[in-house]
Amino acid sequence: MIIDCLNNLHHASFDDIFSYLEENNGFNKISLSTFYRNISFLEQDGVIRKVDSTISEPFYELSNIAKHDHFICTKCHKIIDIPRKNRKEKYDEYGNLIQEISINEYGICKDCLDKIKI
Ligand SMILES: [Zn+2]
Ligand SMILES: [Zn+2]
Repeated sequence: MIIDCLNNLHHASFDDIFSYLEENNGFNKISLSTFYRNISFLEQDGVIRKVDSTISEPFYELSNIAKHDHFICTKCHKIIDIPRKNRKEKYDEYGNLIQEISINEYGICKDCLDKIKI
């Protein structure tokens, strides 16, 4: 059901997923510890990945989607996927080996900008 939720929402915080599960699992209350354990298992198994954000809760997405960067709106907290630019160099300018790059861009999304303009 966690995977089901992420298929639908694409990006969801811990709270978002928990609410989704509660709404769609009407007959049964889910214990927070079971929920937490399942999230950890899925994360450890590489089924889902966690993305940290400095302006909102960390969020999760399915790992089978090609890696990409995120634009996060500082006003409505909408998360937009940005394709990752191909980066050829494996070493940075100081000679350190780059193994992983994760970039979040923060700003105001187009929808919020349109509202400001009115
Ligand atoms: Zn926005
Ligand atoms: Zn994403």
